[in-house]
Amino acid sequence: MPLDLRLSYRQPSARSRVLVRPGLLARAGRLIADEAESPRVLLVTDRTVARLHGRAFARTLTREGLKVATHVVPAGERSKRPDRLVALWDDCAEAGIGRRDRIVALGGGVVGDLAGFAAATWLRGIPWVCVPTTLLAQVDASIGGKTAVDLDAGKNLAGAFHQPDQVLVDPDVLRTLPVRHRRAGLAEVVKIAIAADASLFQWCERNADRLAAGDPRALETAIVRSLSLKARIVQRDEREREGGARTALNLGHTLAHAYEAARGYRGILHGEAVAVGLRFAAALAVQAAGLPAREAARIDALLDRLELPRRMRGASRAALMRAMQQDKKRGAHAIRWVLTTKIGHASVPRPLDTRLIVRTLNEFGAQT
Ligand code: NAD
Repeated sequence: MPLDLRLSYRQPSARSRVLVRPGLLARAGRLIADEAESPRVLLVTDRTVARLHGRAFARTLTREGLKVATHVVPAGERSKRPDRLVALWDDCAEAGIGRRDRIVALGGGVVGDLAGFAAATWLRGIPWVCVPTTLLAQVDASIGGKTAVDLDAGKNLAGAFHQPDQVLVDPDVLRTLPVRHRRAGLAEVVKIAIAADASLFQWCERNADRLAAGDPRALETAIVRSLSLKARIVQRDEREREGGARTALNLGHTLAHAYEAARGYRGILHGEAVAVGLRFAAALAVQAAGLPAREAARIDALLDRLELPRRMRGASRAALMRAMQQDKKRGAHAIRWVLTTKIGHASVPRPLDTRLIVRTLNEFGAQT
Protein backbone atom coordinates (compact mmCIF):
# COMPACT_ATOMS: atom_id res chain seq x y z
CA MET A 1 0.00 0.00 0.00
CA PRO A 2 1.96 3.08 -1.20
CA LEU A 3 1.98 6.30 0.74
CA ASP A 4 3.08 9.81 -0.25
CA LEU A 5 2.84 12.36 2.54
CA ARG A 6 4.08 15.96 2.65
CA LEU A 7 4.51 16.90 6.27
CA SER A 8 4.98 20.45 7.36
CA TYR A 9 5.72 21.52 10.88
CA ARG A 10 5.46 24.88 12.48
CA GLN A 11 8.75 25.83 14.14
CA PRO A 12 8.40 25.80 17.89
CA SER A 13 8.47 29.44 18.86
CA ALA A 14 11.34 30.43 21.09
CA ARG A 15 11.47 33.33 23.49
CA SER A 16 14.52 34.91 25.09
CA ARG A 17 14.57 37.48 27.86
CA VAL A 18 17.62 39.75 27.65
CA LEU A 19 18.62 41.90 30.62
CA VAL A 20 21.59 44.27 30.79
CA ARG A 21 22.33 45.89 34.13
CA PRO A 22 25.46 46.54 36.21
CA GLY A 23 25.44 44.32 39.30
CA LEU A 24 23.06 41.79 37.71
CA LEU A 25 25.29 38.82 38.51
CA ALA A 26 24.44 39.07 42.20
CA ARG A 27 20.74 38.74 41.32
CA ALA A 28 21.17 36.00 38.73
CA GLY A 29 20.09 33.19 41.08
CA ARG A 30 16.73 34.84 41.77
CA LEU A 31 16.14 35.58 38.07
CA ILE A 32 16.98 32.02 37.04
CA ALA A 33 15.02 30.40 39.89
CA ASP A 34 11.94 32.51 39.07
CA GLU A 35 11.84 31.08 35.53
CA ALA A 36 13.00 27.53 36.29
CA GLU A 37 10.61 24.59 36.05
CA SER A 38 12.92 22.42 38.14
CA PRO A 39 15.66 23.21 40.65
CA ARG A 40 18.42 21.24 38.89
CA VAL A 41 21.08 23.21 37.00
CA LEU A 42 24.34 22.31 35.27
CA LEU A 43 26.65 25.31 35.48
CA VAL A 44 29.19 25.36 32.62
CA THR A 45 32.16 27.68 32.82
CA ASP A 46 35.88 27.83 32.05
CA ARG A 47 38.80 27.68 34.46
CA THR A 48 39.58 31.39 34.39
CA VAL A 49 35.99 32.50 34.89
CA ALA A 50 35.50 29.81 37.56
CA ARG A 51 38.49 31.21 39.47
CA LEU A 52 37.32 34.83 39.22
CA HIS A 53 33.54 34.61 39.44
CA GLY A 54 32.51 30.96 39.77
CA ARG A 55 32.13 30.64 43.51
CA ALA A 56 30.15 33.87 44.00
CA PHE A 57 27.95 33.02 41.04
CA ALA A 58 27.24 29.46 42.23
CA ARG A 59 26.32 30.90 45.65
CA THR A 60 23.65 33.14 44.08
CA LEU A 61 22.14 29.98 42.57
CA THR A 62 22.24 27.78 45.65
CA ARG A 63 20.89 30.63 47.82
CA GLU A 64 17.71 30.43 45.77
CA GLY A 65 17.40 26.68 46.32
CA LEU A 66 18.82 25.60 42.97
CA LYS A 67 20.77 22.32 42.95
CA VAL A 68 23.99 23.03 41.09
CA ALA A 69 26.42 20.63 39.40
CA THR A 70 29.42 22.25 37.72
CA HIS A 71 31.33 21.45 34.53
CA VAL A 72 34.59 23.37 34.00
CA VAL A 73 36.51 23.45 30.68
CA PRO A 74 39.95 24.89 29.97
CA ALA A 75 39.86 28.54 28.86
CA GLY A 76 40.10 29.32 25.15
CA GLU A 77 38.87 28.34 21.70
CA ARG A 78 40.33 24.83 21.93
CA SER A 79 37.48 23.97 24.31
CA LYS A 80 34.95 24.40 21.51
CA ARG A 81 35.71 20.89 20.25
CA PRO A 82 33.60 17.74 19.86
CA ASP A 83 35.53 15.87 22.59
CA ARG A 84 34.59 18.63 25.05
CA LEU A 85 30.97 18.31 24.00
CA VAL A 86 31.05 14.57 24.71
CA ALA A 87 32.55 15.21 28.16
CA LEU A 88 29.78 17.74 28.81
CA TRP A 89 27.08 15.23 27.77
CA ASP A 90 28.69 12.72 30.15
CA ASP A 91 28.38 15.24 32.98
CA CYS A 92 24.73 15.89 32.03
CA ALA A 93 24.16 12.15 32.46
CA GLU A 94 26.14 12.06 35.69
CA ALA A 95 24.19 15.00 37.14
CA GLY A 96 20.87 13.50 36.02
CA ILE A 97 19.95 16.51 33.89
CA GLY A 98 16.38 16.01 32.63
CA ARG A 99 14.22 17.79 30.06
CA ARG A 100 12.95 20.41 32.50
CA ASP A 101 16.40 21.13 34.00
CA ARG A 102 18.68 23.74 32.54
CA ILE A 103 22.24 24.46 31.56
CA VAL A 104 23.65 27.79 32.68
CA ALA A 105 26.64 29.06 30.67
CA LEU A 106 28.87 31.47 32.60
CA GLY A 107 31.71 32.68 30.38
CA GLY A 108 32.70 34.07 27.01
CA GLY A 109 31.61 33.03 23.54
CA VAL A 110 33.46 29.72 23.80
CA VAL A 111 31.54 28.59 26.88
CA GLY A 112 28.27 29.96 25.43
CA ASP A 113 28.67 28.19 22.07
CA LEU A 114 29.70 24.88 23.68
CA ALA A 115 27.15 24.87 26.51
CA GLY A 116 24.40 26.12 24.18
CA PHE A 117 25.13 23.26 21.76
CA ALA A 118 25.05 20.78 24.64
CA ALA A 119 21.65 22.24 25.64
CA ALA A 120 20.46 21.96 22.02
CA THR A 121 21.39 18.29 21.82
CA TRP A 122 21.05 16.85 25.33
CA LEU A 123 17.76 14.88 25.35
CA ARG A 124 17.11 16.58 21.96
CA GLY A 125 17.02 20.00 23.57
CA ILE A 126 16.71 21.44 27.07
CA PRO A 127 16.48 25.09 28.22
CA TRP A 128 19.60 27.13 28.81
CA VAL A 129 20.62 30.45 30.27
CA CYS A 130 23.49 32.53 28.93
CA VAL A 131 25.50 34.69 31.32
CA PRO A 132 28.17 36.27 29.10
CA THR A 133 31.35 37.48 30.79
CA THR A 134 33.44 38.82 27.88
CA LEU A 135 32.67 41.97 25.95
CA LEU A 136 32.48 39.93 22.75
CA ALA A 137 29.83 37.65 24.22
CA GLN A 138 27.96 40.55 25.82
CA VAL A 139 27.69 42.55 22.59
CA ASP A 140 27.16 39.68 20.16
CA ALA A 141 27.52 35.95 20.89
CA SER A 142 24.97 35.75 23.71
CA ILE A 143 21.89 36.40 21.60
CA GLY A 144 20.59 34.89 18.40
CA GLY A 145 20.81 31.22 19.40
CA LYS A 146 23.78 30.13 17.28
CA THR A 147 25.61 27.33 19.08
CA ALA A 148 28.44 25.21 17.72
CA VAL A 149 31.76 23.43 18.02
CA ASP A 150 34.76 23.68 15.70
CA LEU A 151 36.14 20.82 13.59
CA ASP A 152 39.57 20.45 12.00
CA ALA A 153 37.82 21.19 8.71
CA GLY A 154 36.57 24.56 9.93
CA LYS A 155 35.07 26.72 12.61
CA ASN A 156 31.51 26.26 13.88
CA LEU A 157 30.90 23.46 11.37
CA ALA A 158 28.76 21.36 13.72
CA GLY A 159 26.08 23.33 15.49
CA ALA A 160 22.43 24.18 16.01
CA PHE A 161 20.12 27.11 16.50
CA HIS A 162 18.90 26.98 20.08
CA GLN A 163 17.74 30.17 21.75
CA PRO A 164 18.65 30.74 25.39
CA ASP A 165 15.63 31.32 27.65
CA GLN A 166 17.46 34.09 29.45
CA VAL A 167 20.48 36.25 28.67
CA LEU A 168 21.80 37.99 31.78
CA VAL A 169 24.41 40.64 31.03
CA ASP A 170 26.33 42.29 33.86
CA PRO A 171 28.82 44.86 32.46
CA ASP A 172 30.55 45.00 35.88
CA VAL A 173 32.02 41.55 35.23
CA LEU A 174 34.20 43.11 32.51
CA ARG A 175 36.35 44.71 35.22
CA THR A 176 38.42 41.53 35.36
CA LEU A 177 38.62 41.07 31.57
CA PRO A 178 42.16 41.50 30.16
CA VAL A 179 42.55 44.49 27.86
CA ARG A 180 43.37 42.33 24.83
CA HIS A 181 40.00 40.55 25.16
CA ARG A 182 38.22 43.87 25.63
CA ARG A 183 39.66 45.12 22.35
CA ALA A 184 38.65 41.90 20.63
CA GLY A 185 35.05 42.46 21.76
CA LEU A 186 35.06 45.97 20.34
CA ALA A 187 35.67 44.47 16.88
CA GLU A 188 32.16 42.96 16.96
CA VAL A 189 30.70 46.35 17.93
CA VAL A 190 32.41 47.91 14.91
CA LYS A 191 31.17 45.04 12.75
CA ILE A 192 27.51 45.51 13.60
CA ALA A 193 27.87 49.27 13.22
CA ILE A 194 29.37 48.95 9.73
CA ALA A 195 26.79 46.34 8.76
CA ALA A 196 23.66 47.96 10.12
CA ASP A 197 23.94 51.31 11.92
CA ALA A 198 25.88 54.33 10.65
CA SER A 199 24.96 56.32 13.78
CA LEU A 200 26.50 53.65 16.03
CA PHE A 201 29.64 53.83 13.89
CA GLN A 202 29.78 57.63 14.38
CA TRP A 203 29.21 57.15 18.12
CA CYS A 204 32.17 54.71 18.17
CA GLU A 205 34.31 57.28 16.34
CA ARG A 206 33.39 59.95 18.91
CA ASN A 207 33.98 57.59 21.83
CA ALA A 208 36.90 55.50 20.57
CA ASP A 209 39.27 56.67 23.29
CA ARG A 210 36.78 55.87 26.08
CA LEU A 211 36.05 52.49 24.54
CA ALA A 212 39.75 51.67 24.16
CA ALA A 213 40.37 52.71 27.78
CA GLY A 214 37.51 50.51 29.02
CA ASP A 215 35.32 53.34 30.36
CA PRO A 216 32.43 51.41 32.00
CA ARG A 217 29.69 53.79 30.82
CA ALA A 218 30.94 53.75 27.24
CA LEU A 219 31.12 49.95 27.31
CA GLU A 220 27.59 49.71 28.70
CA THR A 221 26.28 51.95 25.92
CA ALA A 222 28.13 49.84 23.33
CA ILE A 223 26.59 46.66 24.79
CA VAL A 224 23.04 48.05 24.88
CA ARG A 225 23.21 49.50 21.36
CA SER A 226 24.85 46.43 19.78
CA LEU A 227 22.52 43.95 21.48
CA SER A 228 19.41 45.96 20.61
CA LEU A 229 20.51 46.10 16.98
CA LYS A 230 21.31 42.41 16.83
CA ALA A 231 18.01 41.57 18.55
CA ARG A 232 16.09 43.37 15.79
CA ILE A 233 18.04 41.56 13.07
CA VAL A 234 17.85 38.02 14.48
CA GLN A 235 14.13 38.32 15.17
CA ARG A 236 13.60 39.13 11.49
CA ASP A 237 15.79 36.28 10.29
CA GLU A 238 16.46 33.77 13.05
CA ARG A 239 17.82 31.00 10.82
CA GLU A 240 20.00 33.13 8.55
CA ARG A 241 18.06 32.52 5.33
CA GLU A 242 19.97 32.96 2.10
CA GLY A 243 20.07 36.70 1.51
CA GLY A 244 18.19 37.34 4.79
CA ALA A 245 18.93 40.18 7.22
CA ARG A 246 21.15 38.03 9.44
CA THR A 247 23.71 37.35 6.71
CA ALA A 248 24.88 40.97 7.12
CA LEU A 249 26.28 39.99 10.52
CA ASN A 250 28.79 37.76 8.77
CA LEU A 251 30.60 40.86 7.53
CA GLY A 252 34.34 40.24 7.91
CA HIS A 253 33.78 36.67 9.07
CA THR A 254 34.66 34.73 5.92
CA LEU A 255 38.27 35.80 6.24
CA ALA A 256 38.18 35.82 10.06
CA HIS A 257 37.12 32.18 10.29
CA ALA A 258 39.68 31.14 7.66
CA TYR A 259 42.42 33.04 9.49
CA GLU A 260 41.56 31.35 12.79
CA ALA A 261 41.44 27.90 11.13
CA ALA A 262 44.72 28.54 9.25
CA ARG A 263 46.33 29.35 12.62
CA GLY A 264 44.89 26.21 14.20
CA TYR A 265 42.86 28.49 16.57
CA ARG A 266 46.10 29.39 18.36
CA GLY A 267 47.62 32.76 19.18
CA ILE A 268 44.80 34.80 17.65
CA LEU A 269 41.54 35.87 19.27
CA HIS A 270 38.27 35.67 17.37
CA GLY A 271 37.70 39.42 17.66
CA GLU A 272 41.22 40.15 16.39
CA ALA A 273 40.57 37.95 13.37
CA VAL A 274 37.27 39.82 12.85
CA ALA A 275 39.11 43.16 12.90
CA VAL A 276 41.42 42.00 10.09
CA GLY A 277 38.37 40.53 8.31
CA LEU A 278 36.55 43.88 8.47
CA ARG A 279 39.52 45.73 6.98
CA PHE A 280 39.81 43.03 4.34
CA ALA A 281 36.09 43.24 3.49
CA ALA A 282 36.38 47.04 3.24
CA ALA A 283 39.36 46.72 0.86
CA LEU A 284 37.36 44.28 -1.30
CA ALA A 285 34.32 46.56 -1.17
CA VAL A 286 36.33 49.48 -2.51
CA GLN A 287 37.36 47.31 -5.48
CA ALA A 288 34.07 45.51 -6.06
CA ALA A 289 31.10 47.13 -4.32
CA GLY A 290 31.60 50.87 -4.79
CA LEU A 291 32.58 51.64 -1.19
CA PRO A 292 34.30 55.03 -1.37
CA ALA A 293 38.00 54.78 -0.38
CA ARG A 294 37.48 57.46 2.28
CA GLU A 295 34.85 55.25 3.99
CA ALA A 296 37.31 52.33 4.06
CA ALA A 297 39.85 54.74 5.55
CA ARG A 298 37.35 55.64 8.33
CA ILE A 299 36.94 51.93 9.13
CA ASP A 300 40.72 51.47 9.28
CA ALA A 301 41.15 54.58 11.42
CA LEU A 302 38.51 53.47 13.95
CA LEU A 303 40.00 49.97 14.24
CA ASP A 304 43.47 51.56 14.64
CA ARG A 305 42.19 53.73 17.51
CA LEU A 306 40.77 50.63 19.16
CA GLU A 307 44.25 49.10 18.78
CA LEU A 308 43.05 46.18 16.71
CA PRO A 309 45.38 44.37 14.28
CA ARG A 310 45.79 45.38 10.66
CA ARG A 311 47.28 42.36 8.97
CA MET A 312 47.45 38.58 9.27
CA ARG A 313 50.43 36.78 10.71
CA GLY A 314 51.45 33.16 10.38
CA ALA A 315 48.75 32.18 7.88
CA SER A 316 49.62 30.73 4.48
CA ARG A 317 47.58 31.62 1.43
CA ALA A 318 46.95 27.94 0.67
CA ALA A 319 45.62 27.28 4.19
CA LEU A 320 43.43 30.37 4.03
CA MET A 321 41.96 29.42 0.65
CA ARG A 322 41.35 25.87 1.85
CA ALA A 323 39.60 27.08 5.00
CA MET A 324 37.46 29.53 3.02
CA GLN A 325 36.35 26.74 0.70
CA GLN A 326 35.26 24.78 3.74
CA ASP A 327 33.50 27.70 5.33
CA LYS A 328 29.86 26.88 5.71
CA LYS A 329 28.80 30.21 4.26
CA ARG A 330 30.09 29.38 0.79
CA GLY A 331 27.40 29.15 -1.86
CA ALA A 332 26.89 26.25 -4.21
CA HIS A 333 29.83 27.09 -6.48
CA ALA A 334 31.87 29.82 -4.87
CA ILE A 335 32.73 31.54 -1.62
CA ARG A 336 30.21 34.29 -0.99
CA TRP A 337 31.29 37.61 0.50
CA VAL A 338 29.28 40.05 2.56
CA LEU A 339 30.51 43.52 1.61
CA THR A 340 29.68 46.96 2.84
CA THR A 341 28.43 49.35 0.17
CA LYS A 342 28.43 52.25 2.64
CA ILE A 343 28.97 52.43 6.39
CA GLY A 344 25.75 51.22 8.03
CA HIS A 345 24.78 48.94 5.17
CA ALA A 346 25.98 45.47 4.12
CA SER A 347 25.21 43.70 0.87
CA VAL A 348 23.67 40.31 0.19
CA PRO A 349 26.57 37.78 0.07
CA ARG A 350 27.96 37.23 -3.41
CA PRO A 351 30.89 35.55 -5.14
CA LEU A 352 33.96 37.57 -6.17
CA ASP A 353 36.76 37.05 -8.68
CA THR A 354 39.38 34.72 -7.16
CA ARG A 355 42.22 36.90 -8.55
CA LEU A 356 40.93 39.85 -6.51
CA ILE A 357 40.81 37.66 -3.39
CA VAL A 358 44.34 36.34 -3.90
CA ARG A 359 45.74 39.83 -4.54
CA THR A 360 44.04 41.21 -1.43
CA LEU A 361 45.14 38.23 0.69
CA ASN A 362 48.74 39.03 -0.31
CA GLU A 363 48.26 42.68 0.67
CA PHE A 364 46.95 41.53 4.05
CA GLY A 365 49.99 39.44 4.90
CA ALA A 366 49.12 35.95 3.63
CA GLN A 367 52.32 33.92 3.26
CA THR A 368 53.01 32.18 -0.02
P1 NAD B 1 36.43 33.15 25.19
O1 NAD B 1 35.12 32.59 25.58
O2 NAD B 1 37.54 32.20 24.91
O3 NAD B 1 36.89 34.17 26.32
C1 NAD B 1 38.10 34.84 26.19
C2 NAD B 1 38.98 34.68 27.44
O4 NAD B 1 38.50 35.54 28.44
C3 NAD B 1 39.02 33.29 28.02
O5 NAD B 1 40.35 33.01 28.38
C4 NAD B 1 38.17 33.41 29.27
O6 NAD B 1 38.57 32.53 30.27
C5 NAD B 1 38.41 34.83 29.67
N1 NAD B 1 37.34 35.48 30.40
C6 NAD B 1 36.02 35.41 30.17
N2 NAD B 1 35.36 36.26 30.95
C7 NAD B 1 36.27 36.87 31.73
C8 NAD B 1 36.21 37.85 32.73
N3 NAD B 1 35.06 38.46 33.08
N4 NAD B 1 37.36 38.23 33.34
C9 NAD B 1 38.55 37.68 32.97
N5 NAD B 1 38.68 36.76 32.02
C10 NAD B 1 37.54 36.36 31.39
O7 NAD B 1 36.30 34.06 23.89
P2 NAD B 1 35.23 35.15 23.39
O8 NAD B 1 36.03 36.16 22.69
O9 NAD B 1 34.32 35.56 24.46
O10 NAD B 1 34.35 34.33 22.35
C11 NAD B 1 34.88 33.85 21.15
C12 NAD B 1 33.98 32.76 20.63
O11 NAD B 1 32.66 33.26 20.44
C13 NAD B 1 34.44 32.21 19.31
O12 NAD B 1 34.45 30.82 19.35
C14 NAD B 1 33.37 32.68 18.33
O13 NAD B 1 33.20 31.81 17.26
C15 NAD B 1 32.16 32.75 19.21
N6 NAD B 1 31.11 33.64 18.72
C16 NAD B 1 29.85 33.16 18.70
C17 NAD B 1 28.82 33.96 18.25
C18 NAD B 1 27.41 33.45 18.26
O14 NAD B 1 26.52 34.10 17.71
N7 NAD B 1 27.15 32.32 18.86
C19 NAD B 1 29.07 35.28 17.82
C20 NAD B 1 30.38 35.74 17.88
C21 NAD B 1 31.40 34.91 18.34
